[in-house]
Amino acid sequence: MKKNGKIIAGVDTGQSFYDGRDAFLKAALESVSGQFTLDAASFYEFEEKSGLLRLRHRHASGVSFEHEEDLRPAPGSPAARALDTLQAVTAKGLGGSFLYSPFRFDYCDPAGGRGVVPCFGLVRLERSPRRRGFTAPEAARADAYLKSFLRDYYKAEFFSLHRKYDKNVAAITELTEVFATALRVRDSFRHILSGIQTYFGFDRVRLYLIDEPNRKLKGELSADIRGQIKSISYEEIPLEPGAHRFADIVLGRSSGAFMERYKDCVLYMPLSVQGVTIGLLIVDNLLSQQRIEPQELAMLKSFGGQIALAVDNSRLFDKVEELSLYDELTKLPLRRYFNQRFQEEFYRAERFKQPLALVWADIDYFKEVNDTYGHQIGDKVLKEAGRVILSNLRKIDFPCRYGGDEIIILLPQATGTEATRLAERLSQELSELRIPVPFSKARELRVTMSIGISTFPADASTMDSLLEKADDALYWVKSHGRGKIALYSDVAEEKKKAEAAGGTNNAPAK
Ligand code: GH3
Ligand code: MG
Repeated sequence: MKKNGKIIAGVDTGQSFYDGRDAFLKAALESVSGQFTLDAASFYEFEEKSGLLRLRHRHASGVSFEHEEDLRPAPGSPAARALDTLQAVTAKGLGGSFLYSPFRFDYCDPAGGRGVVPCFGLVRLERSPRRRGFTAPEAARADAYLKSFLRDYYKAEFFSLHRKYDKNVAAITELTEVFATALRVRDSFRHILSGIQTYFGFDRVRLYLIDEPNRKLKGELSADIRGQIKSISYEEIPLEPGAHRFADIVLGRSSGAFMERYKDCVLYMPLSVQGVTIGLLIVDNLLSQQRIEPQELAMLKSFGGQIALAVDNSRLFDKVEELSLYDELTKLPLRRYFNQRFQEEFYRAERFKQPLALVWADIDYFKEVNDTYGHQIGDKVLKEAGRVILSNLRKIDFPCRYGGDEIIILLPQATGTEATRLAERLSQELSELRIPVPFSKARELRVTMSIGISTFPADASTMDSLLEKADDALYWVKSHGRGKIALYSDVAEEKKKAEAAGGTNNAPAK
């Protein structure tokens, strides 16, 4: 039941077998499109009689289409090669980049009437010419994902699933969204677990991941029926045969290697990506003692590949992020790197009784730049600011993109006067920049920075207070006209004078 390409939940029970299948297909194609940045994904089944690849479902640029076009694979074409060899084939041409992922499974009709039915066809993934082509590892991942999904797709008992269609369609659509976005969010495990818990209504969902170097199965998170998510990192199970029931399941030593059930209330699902087990998902209804229905089992099973891929992707994403210490845009170190360096520099300054200055700069009216000229021009401003800063620092100085349009620079062994001199130079160079703005009356854009400076040991004796004092000085500049530089000691002096005079004050900005 579709309307404007969207699946609408709430169907009558007279739905055909194919409606249930469509929901699964739509979910799979949407998910693969999100995960591999595709412009389109099409699912074809091969029809022996006509020799045609019949288009069963197509997902393109956020919209799903049905029955759009069939394909007759020309001999030697990528589609024909994929079908002949049953291997994924990539192709690139004027129309874009393509990945043909073939499949062939023998499907047993769950009702028994049709006996064994061969399921043969391919999925074509597309990227438009302006995007990059498919790399070999990407092709392998996409191919493995599609194969695992389609195997379950054909195996799942659609007739029995059909009764729960109403609830499940909504679950599929929303869960797929959760899995696809999970790649980008930090606390993606939370999203995945609470997604499963909410949509299936299990009492509890727990996630364990394999720590290969230490040969352990480690607890990650647990989501319960009250919506509480807590860490179970204290649970560590040696990954040895016989050490624990969970270990045996992930090691494949237990019966029913793919999934195992315990008194119908607990379900253990090993998570694997490209044949490698990466963890274990356990769902249970132990509190309510409710049986986990076969439909739920089939449903979870068909999501197994996606859950595993989402978990694996988030892990990879975190790892890559951890490894990257520099900001792509400004080429300045990131805050994470800064925190570590700040500790070292502060320790050194204290230990050797040397000064340490902290310069906190913030671009003025940067939001307006974005709003008026667009984000691309905003990015250009940040890029230029990074370049100006990097070209003016000494080797021992340490800049950092602290967040948004804020930049902090650590100046070891520098006094307030020296830091002010550097700040003046940066300010001057930045204000001399003319950033071209096409299609605008102004033609070029000028920007200024506000800067606050604090120093150790003159203004502060701890790291936190050094940061706080530079921020105070910056705030002072922001509230007194912007585009200037203020030393915290001058700001404090000025505030004192103003208080003594009992009136307003002038900016101490230089
Ligand atoms: P103020 O003079 O008080 O600093 O005003 P402002 O407009 O600069 O205000 P604020 O510092 O709050 O705005 C920072 C803006 O920077 C908000 C955010 O949209 C934008 N921003 C953050 N990161 C980026 C980025 O990577 N690229 C672009 N183009 N904009 C960004
Ligand atoms: Mg700003």
